Amino acid sequence: MLPTDTALVLFSGGQDSTTCLAWALKHYARVETIGFDYGQRHAIELTVRPTVIERLRAHSPEWNAKLGEDHMIDLSLISEISQTAMTHDIAIETQANGLPNTFVPGRNLLFMTVAATVAYRRGLTVLVGGMCETDFSGYPDCRDDTMKALQVALNLGMDTRLKLETPLMWRDKRQTWELAQELGGQALVDLIRDGTHTCYLGERGALHDWGYGCGTCPACALRARGYRQFAGTEV
Ligand code: ZN
Repeated sequence: MLPTDTALVLFSGGQDSTTCLAWALKHYARVETIGFDYGQRHAIELTVRPTVIERLRAHSPEWNAKLGEDHMIDLSLISEISQTAMTHDIAIETQANGLPNTFVPGRNLLFMTVAATVAYRRGLTVLVGGMCETDFSGYPDCRDDTMKALQVALNLGMDTRLKLETPLMWRDKRQTWELAQELGGQALVDLIRDGTHTCYLGERGALHDWGYGCGTCPACALRARGYRQFAGTEV
C-alpha cells in the first residue's frame, strides 16, 4: 500500500470496525468513515460512533490530523425489504438453511457498494471493512471470495481501481484484540473495550471485563471469549 492512498472505512462503532479504523489510520494518508443506519436493533452502536471517533482523535495527534469526514447514510430500506433478527424484534435462531436469522441478506454487498459510490465522489482509493471469515457467524457475505468478487464487480461497473481491504479476514477475536494492542497499545485496547458496542440486543447496562453487552447473544459470546483469551484469563 502507498502512503498516498486514502481510505474510506466502514465504521459501525463496534469492536471490529474500530480496529479497522485504527489500522487504516496507521496505514493511509487520509481516512474518512462511513456508517449505516439500517434499522438495526442495536442502534445504540450509532450513538457510540461519535464518541469513539473523538477518542481516536484524542489518542494520537497523527490520527487526528489524518481523520476526515464522517458520512452517515440512511439505509432503512434494508429493514423494509428483509425480515431478520437483526432488524426486527424476533428471537435469534438458526434457520432451515443453516444460517442464523441475524444474517441480513445482501447487507455487506450493499454497504460496500454504497461505500464505493461515496469513495468515487470523495476521490478515495481504498475501502476498508471488518469482514472476517475466521470467526464469522457463517455469513456468506463476510467471505474473502465474496469481497474479492465484489471488488472486481465494483471496479468493472464504475471503471475504477478501488481496493477492498479486510484486515480482520483471517483473524479470530483474540487476534483482533492483539491487533488493537499492536496499533495503539493498552490505551487503544481500553478505548475499544469500553467505548465500542457489539451486542446484537443493544444492551449497554453493565461493564464487563470485555466491554458492554448482554453477555449471552452470539456477538457478546464471541467478543467475551476473544477478550478473555487475549487477556489470558481463558484458554
Ligand atoms: Zn449481547
